Amino acid sequence: MIRFIAILLLSLAFTANAVPVVTRYRSPKNPERRVREKTTLIVLHTTEAPAKGSLRHLSERGECHYCVTEDGTVYQIVDRYRVAFHAGTSMWNGKPDVDEFSVGIECVGYHDKTMPLAQLLAIRELVKELQKIYSIPDKCVVTHSQVAYGEPNRWQKKKHRGRKRCGMLFAMPSVRRILGLKERQKSDPDVKARRLVVGDKLLSNVLYGKTDTMRRAYDSVKLSSGQGKTVATPPPKRPTASFSYVPQTIRELRALGFESIGSVSKDSLPYKIAGDDWNAPDTFYTIRSRVIPGNVLNDKHVEDGMNVWRKSKR
Ligand SMILES: [Zn+2]
Repeated sequence: MIRFIAILLLSLAFTANAVPVVTRYRSPKNPERRVREKTTLIVLHTTEAPAKGSLRHLSERGECHYCVTEDGTVYQIVDRYRVAFHAGTSMWNGKPDVDEFSVGIECVGYHDKTMPLAQLLAIRELVKELQKIYSIPDKCVVTHSQVAYGEPNRWQKKKHRGRKRCGMLFAMPSVRRILGLKERQKSDPDVKARRLVVGDKLLSNVLYGKTDTMRRAYDSVKLSSGQGKTVATPPPKRPTASFSYVPQTIRELRALGFESIGSVSKDSLPYKIAGDDWNAPDTFYTIRSRVIPGNVLNDKHVEDGMNVWRKSKR
């Protein structure tokens, strides 16, 4: 009985207290941002870069409302009720410019990597609070990759989903379970209505298919019911390549045992050549004697004729 009362008091404390935020990186752009008229989505992002630089950039440019670091600290960047520029070229359910009707949360980490449990639990509490404030259902907590789209380009003749993989992991059932989200989007409303085409099949599979590549890593994480406290050990880290040295020349790549495994073209995009490793730090791309590691490759870099390099298995 005492235990029951303790749990009850603890849950009351949780509902009464807002998630504590740190304002050290509050954006100087706040005064010039107008108040958002409506809020129907929560958009989760991954910074794809370490905390310090990310916080500085996000703050300078006013690019999100909150940023959650690995230790679970929640930084407030743009005031929750103002417009933050986090979604870029975006559309959801036929409505363009997702910034106009969403709250954006940047999570320090990478779209295809596990996150520390402390961080996931902080995201969970923040999301829960925002859902309550704006009456947002679980399925409207989405990822940047779900709402971003690309204009026609040399690779893709039509407007397409798949401009970004940002926040991809937050669409996975295993991760959503930890975040306390019971429902997810079952399909892409804009692809369904033919406003967009699928531009990244792997992404589409992760977002809406059965691909849950991180399920095993997260299966060992069990949350005790209710209190947002955990009784389990942190999720085991997915084995990741730790390649920090960037070779400067093709000659050096060869000397280090890398071999070219393909050349990028319209029909052979990086993920087709290197699979899930397309953006790994130990996958390299070369073009006009430049060497670009996979983990920094973005849309702007991808060019016809780029060579893809992986460590030779021999
Ligand atoms: Zn993003």
